[in-house]
Amino acid sequence: MASIDIAAVCERARVDPSLVRDTNIGNTSATGGYVLLWMQKAQRAYDNPALDFAVETANALDLPLLVVFALADYPSATVHHITFMLEGLKETVHALRERGIAFCIRRGAPGAIVREFGIDAAIIIGDEGRTITELEWRRHLLAYPELPRRIFVETEAVVPPKIACSKLAWSAAQLRPRISAFLPHFLEALKSPDSPQRIDASLNSRSDDTLLKRSSEHTDSARSANPLLRFQRIEFTPGYAVGMNLFREFLDQKLSRYAEYRNDPNSAAQSDMSPYLHFGQVAARRLAREALRLHPEHAQAYIEELVVRRELAINFVTYCPDYLHFESAIPAWAKDSLNATTRKNMFSKRDLEFARTDDPFWNAAQLEMILTGKMHNYMRMYWGKKILSWFSDPHESYSFAIEMNDRYSLDGRDPNGYAGVAWCFGRHDRPWPHREDFGNVRSMTPDGLRRKFDADLYAERMLKVYNARKPEVS
Ligand SMILES: Cc1cc2nc3c(=O)[nH]c(=O)nc-3n(C[C@H](O)[C@H](O)[C@H](O)COP(=O)(O)OP(=O)(O)OC[C@H]3O[C@@H](n4cnc5c(N)ncnc54)[C@H](O)[C@@H]3O)c2cc1C
Repeated sequence: MASIDIAAVCERARVDPSLVRDTNIGNTSATGGYVLLWMQKAQRAYDNPALDFAVETANALDLPLLVVFALADYPSATVHHITFMLEGLKETVHALRERGIAFCIRRGAPGAIVREFGIDAAIIIGDEGRTITELEWRRHLLAYPELPRRIFVETEAVVPPKIACSKLAWSAAQLRPRISAFLPHFLEALKSPDSPQRIDASLNSRSDDTLLKRSSEHTDSARSANPLLRFQRIEFTPGYAVGMNLFREFLDQKLSRYAEYRNDPNSAAQSDMSPYLHFGQVAARRLAREALRLHPEHAQAYIEELVVRRELAINFVTYCPDYLHFESAIPAWAKDSLNATTRKNMFSKRDLEFARTDDPFWNAAQLEMILTGKMHNYMRMYWGKKILSWFSDPHESYSFAIEMNDRYSLDGRDPNGYAGVAWCFGRHDRPWPHREDFGNVRSMTPDGLRRKFDADLYAERMLKVYNARKPEVS
C-alpha cells in the first residue's frame, strides 16, 4: 500500500502544505511500480511545486517517477497555441529526462491517458487547473475508483486561492490586503531542482515522442480554413530558458519604467510574460520573487499586476464557474444598466474579426492580436469596451469578445482573459456616471486614448506590420 506522510513530503520538497489538496479518493491498496505526476498546467521542470512534491513522494516510496502529459483537444486552440506549447515542452522533457525523471506524452483525453498510466502507479499527483475544461479533466480523473490515491498541488497562484479569499472577491481592493499579508510567506526560497533516487528509463518507452517532433502540423486544417491564422506571425519564442531570459531583460531594462509607461502601447514597458505564464512555462512565484529581490524599489507596480490582478482573475474563475456567460459573470448593477441601455449592432462579426471597423485604433488592436498573439493591456481594455458598445445584446458582445480573445491571443483561454473581458462589462469595477452605449459601466473613447498616449502612432505601426505580413487571401 502506498502510504505517505504528506507533511513530511512537503517539508522535504519545501512545498507549503496549503498548496496540496489530498482528494482522499483512490485505491489505498495500490502497489504500482512508480509515482505518476500528471503534468498539465505547470509545463516546466523548474520552480514547480507539483514536481518537487512528486520527486519527494517517489523518494519516500523508493519508486521511480513518471511524468505524463496529455496532448488534448482544447476548445479554441489553434496551431499557434499548440506549437508554442509543444516547443516549450521539448525543453521540459529534455530537462526531466536528464534528471532521471521519465516523461511520456500521448495524444487524447487526459482522463483516459492518466487512467491508462495510473493503473500501474502507486499514487497519482496532478497540478491544479480552474478553467471549465481543466476542471472537467480533473473531475474525470476522480471518477475511477480503481486508480490509486490522487493528490493535487497548486502551481498557478502564488497565494493559494482558498487562503487569499474563500469567496468571490468584488474588487482588487478586497483581495490586495490579504495577498500582501501572505505574500512574503509564499515567496520564501524555492527548492533547487532535485532528482529521484530510483531511476527507470524504460518508462520513457510508452511515450509518443513523435508528437513533439511534429508540433506545427497539429492543426493544419484549421490553419488553412482561416486566413487570419496564416499570417507570418511575430512569434514569441517558447520555453523556460527564453522566458526567463526575457524576464531578466525586463528587470534590467524596463522595470524601472513600468509604473509610468505600462499603459503606453508605444513604450514597450511590459514584461511579455503572459504567454509563458499561461502555458506554465515560467512560475509567477519565481518572477515575483526575483523582481522584489533585485529591484525592490520598482517592483510594487509589477507585483500589483502579476500577483494581485492575476490572482483576482483566478479568484473570479474559481468562485464564478459560469464565467463564460454574461448572465452569471457580470454584477447586477452593470447587467441592469447594460440591459436597459439601447445600442445598435454596428458591424458584422466577420468585419470585426477582420479588423474592418471605422475605428482605426480598434482595428490596430485587433491586428496586433492577430499578428503577434498578444494585444497590449491598455488596448485590450479599449478593444473590449468598444465591442460592448457595438452590439445591441450584451450577452452576444460578451461571448464574442471571449471567442476572439481565446482564438487569437497566445495567452488566451486563461483566467486573466475571462476576468479582463468581464472587467470591460463592469466586473471588479463600480458604477460610473451614465454614458451613451455604456450605461453606468465605465466607458472608453478614442479621445481618451489620444490623451493617454500617441494612439495615431500605434495605429500606424500596426498597419505597417500588417501590410508587410499579410498572407495571400484567396
Ligand atoms: C479584454 C481583456 C482581455 C485580456 N485577456 C488576457 C488573456 O487572454 N491572457 C492574459 O494573460 N491576460 C489578459 N488580459 C490582462 C492583461 O492585458 C495581460 O495580462 C497583459 O497585458 C499581459 O502582458 P504582459 O505579460 O506583458 O503584462 P505585464 O504588464 O508585464 O504584467 C505581468 C503579468 O501580470 C499579469 N497581469 C498584467 N495585467 C493584468 C490584468 N489586467 N489582469 C490580470 N493579470 C494581469 C499577467 O499575468 C502578466 O503576464 C486581458 C485584459 C483585458 C482588458
